[in-house]
Amino acid sequence: CLAAAALGGYEMGHHLPELNPLQLFGPAAAVLQPTVITSRSPNPLPLPRMSRGHGASTLFAAKPSDRTPGRGASLAERFGGMPPAAPDGAAVDTVDTVDTPSYMASPRLLIKSAEFVTSAGRIDQFLNFSVPHFVFAGRSNVGKSSLINALTNKKGLAKTSQTPGKTRLVNYFSINRDKKSGNHVLFLVDIPGYGYANVAKQTSAAWGRLINEYLLETPYIATVFTLLDIRHDPTAQDKQMIEWLKEQELPYCIILTKADKLRPMALKKRVADFKRMTLTKSADIIVTSSLRGVGLDDLKKRLKVDFEEMKDLIWQNEQADPERQGILQSIRMDRTDEEDEY
Ligand code: GDP
Repeated sequence: CLAAAALGGYEMGHHLPELNPLQLFGPAAAVLQPTVITSRSPNPLPLPRMSRGHGASTLFAAKPSDRTPGRGASLAERFGGMPPAAPDGAAVDTVDTVDTPSYMASPRLLIKSAEFVTSAGRIDQFLNFSVPHFVFAGRSNVGKSSLINALTNKKGLAKTSQTPGKTRLVNYFSINRDKKSGNHVLFLVDIPGYGYANVAKQTSAAWGRLINEYLLETPYIATVFTLLDIRHDPTAQDKQMIEWLKEQELPYCIILTKADKLRPMALKKRVADFKRMTLTKSADIIVTSSLRGVGLDDLKKRLKVDFEEMKDLIWQNEQADPERQGILQSIRMDRTDEEDEY
C-alpha cells in the first residue's frame, strides 16, 4: 500500500476525494459549522489520540474563552508534563532587541539521509508512526520545496513548483531512517500550499480541509514551520494560519524565506515588522535563503532541540502505556544508538 502511494507520489492530485467545505481556508471560511473528524480506518500503528483540549476539531469555531483549556502551550504540556507558558501575546517581545534564542547553543541536527515516503490526500492515508513530525506550511510559491531540498541537501527531493499550487497533498519525507530495520526516526512533512488564486474554489476548500485534518489528527507534531516570504506582509490567510496554530497551541516557528532578495538593513527591519505583524517572539523567527544557504544552520539547531524534546516526550508517553510497548521500536533504536548522532 505504501509502495503504491509512493509511486503515486506527487501525481496523485487528481485523486483528491470530494471533501466537505473546509473550516479554515477557501470560500467556506465563513461557514463555521462544527465538523467532527471521524476516526480513521486502518492506521499503520494504533496510536492514541492526543488530548485535544479544544474539543471539536473545528478551526475558528469558537473564541478561546469558549473552549476548554488547550492541549498545552508547550510540547511537554501537551503530554501533561509541564505548566503552560504565558499566553502568546504576553510573551511577545515587541522591541527589536538582539535576543539569542536558546536553541542557538544546540548542536545541529545531522541530516544523513532523506527520502520521500508517501503522499496522503485523505485522513486515512496519514502516517502516524510515533516519531516527531516537523511540518512545513505556507502559501504556494513561498519557497517550501526549495527549503526542504536545501535543508536535506537533495535537489529533487521536494519538487520545486513550476506551477504554483501543485503540491496538493501531505508529503512525507523520512530523515535518517534506520537502514537495517527500516524504522523511521523523524519526518519532515510538506503540507499543501494555501492561498493560490487560480485554483477552483472547491479545490482550495479541499486543501484547507486536508491541512486542518492533518494538523489535528497527527499526534506527534514537534513544530509547525510556517513559511512567509520576507518581502511580503503576511496575507489574511497567513495570519489566519498563525492565529489558528496559537489557538490550538501547536508549537510553531516562522521561517522568513528568500532573504537574499533584501539588503541587510532592510532585512533587519523586515524581521522587526514580522514580529509585530504576527505577534511572534524573535526566538520563533528564522531568516533563511535556500538560494544562498542562509539560516539553514539555525533551522537545524531548532530541529535538533525540538526533535530531542518530542522524542523524549514520545518515549515517556508511550513507556507509561504497556499496551504501546510494541511500537516503541524506532524510538528505542534511536536512544540506544551509541553514537547518538541525531
Ligand atoms: P513552494 O511552492 O512553496 O514549494 O515554492 P518553491 O520552493 O517551488 O519556490 C518558488 C519559487 O521561489 C521558485 O522559483 C524558487 O526558485 C524561488 N525560491 C525559493 N527559495 C528561494 C530563495 O531562497 N531565494 C530566491 N531568490 N528564490 C527562491
